[in-house]
Amino acid sequence: MSASLLLAYVSAAIVLQVGVAIAVALWRRKHPAASQTAVPRVALPTAGAWGGWREFRVARREYEDRAHTVCSFHFEPVDGAPLPPFVAGQFLTLAVPISREQTLTRCYSLSDGTNAGSYRISVKRVPAPVGRPDLPAGAASKQLHDHLQVGDFVRAKALAGRFVVAPQPSTPVVLIAGGIGITPLLCMLRSGLAAEPNRAVHLYYGVRQGAEHCFAKELEALARQHPNFHSHVVYSQPGPNDVIGRDFQHVGHVDVDLLRRTLPAGRHRFFVCGPPAMMASLIPALAQWGVLPGDIHHEAFGPATARFAQTSSRAEAPRPSLSLEVVFRKSARTLVWDGTDANLLEFAARNDLSIASGCRSGSCGTCEVELISGTVRYPEEPDHEISPGRCLLCVGVPVSPLELDA
Ligand SMILES: Cc1cc2nc3c(=O)[nH]c(=O)nc-3n(C[C@H](O)[C@H](O)[C@H](O)COP(=O)(O)OP(=O)(O)OC[C@H]3O[C@@H](n4cnc5c(N)ncnc54)[C@H](O)[C@@H]3O)c2cc1C
Repeated sequence: MSASLLLAYVSAAIVLQVGVAIAVALWRRKHPAASQTAVPRVALPTAGAWGGWREFRVARREYEDRAHTVCSFHFEPVDGAPLPPFVAGQFLTLAVPISREQTLTRCYSLSDGTNAGSYRISVKRVPAPVGRPDLPAGAASKQLHDHLQVGDFVRAKALAGRFVVAPQPSTPVVLIAGGIGITPLLCMLRSGLAAEPNRAVHLYYGVRQGAEHCFAKELEALARQHPNFHSHVVYSQPGPNDVIGRDFQHVGHVDVDLLRRTLPAGRHRFFVCGPPAMMASLIPALAQWGVLPGDIHHEAFGPATARFAQTSSRAEAPRPSLSLEVVFRKSARTLVWDGTDANLLEFAARNDLSIASGCRSGSCGTCEVELISGTVRYPEEPDHEISPGRCLLCVGVPVSPLELDA
């Protein structure tokens, strides 16, 4: 994506995020303990993980919904070597060639947790924003849907991410998905049912209507096979042929009222992945309902959803006026950071510097660069482990003049 495209995209996302950030900030001001609770970390396997890119072949592809908005791709390693163990909820970072000159980096969660020999990802075709048909549709998702066929090759980085379920059979799990947010949760569901067959799992999956309901048969089969799996499918706008009780169980949105009515009493661990509006209303509402902050885990699919959790402190505290020189050595540019931008990646994009990035939320490490001098601060601890002497632009802010090898 070009710097101006990225900047425009980020600007559009900010409009939504400001409202969200204010709501979360107001809620957090009333409940300060919530922002202090750390998410427990699960030991993640590192054995067998590869460095850099590894080549995969597309072994299969299939659509997962009647509207053909979500397509699954099954990848097998070209080198034939075994795939390293992974924890359900992690994601692959793909290199998606758009043209001879341009390759985009994008993250996709594994959507299956069972086949040791291959990875499955499920990609939603991202349309232009509502009311803006003049803008291009999502570039990487379009490319994958329209051009990545069986037998084609694709490059991926080793799995990453810490949105994972800690084994704890006595505490039931509640998985809450909105739209394409189902992918990491389906992976968690499948591997959880296999590994902890007595642990109760409640899935709340919100979609607009039957045509966009993904993995319907897969979920029905799991519910038949596993009495500890309780499935709640929620349609917000059922279509004329959608039948309640057969295709879905509830009309409306996944909210605390629905959870209160349908979950058994007691402690649960919540895992939430969905669009910004859902995350923005549900996460504060869960805590307000009395769920311990450490029992609420969420994943963001990129900056549009990522920053709602990260901007709350920015919304609360007025920014000090700053003037820090930032040297981008490779680009031969020296710019002045004044605290306007949320992070160094946005700062670079606003100044027309094109820097490769992936998740834009501190998870994939694509925008990690050498920090030649200076100090970078991370308002939220990134998932990606930053190597010594380097920094992560998408979530980092300078606290001193910087020189970056970018
Ligand atoms: C950890 C993680 C896991 C993920 N897992 C999944 C998954 O399992 N499945 C999945 O489908 N996705 C997943 N994603 C999201 C995925 O990485 C991509 O962000 C997504 O596919 C969109 O990328 P794109 O290149 O198609 O869209 P982009 O090209 O990045 O466009 C995004 C949006 O911006 C709009 N846009 C384009 N140009 C402009 C402009 N000038 N001004 C304003 N708006 C503009 C586009 O129309 C589109 O709506 C995940 C992301 C993360 C970080």
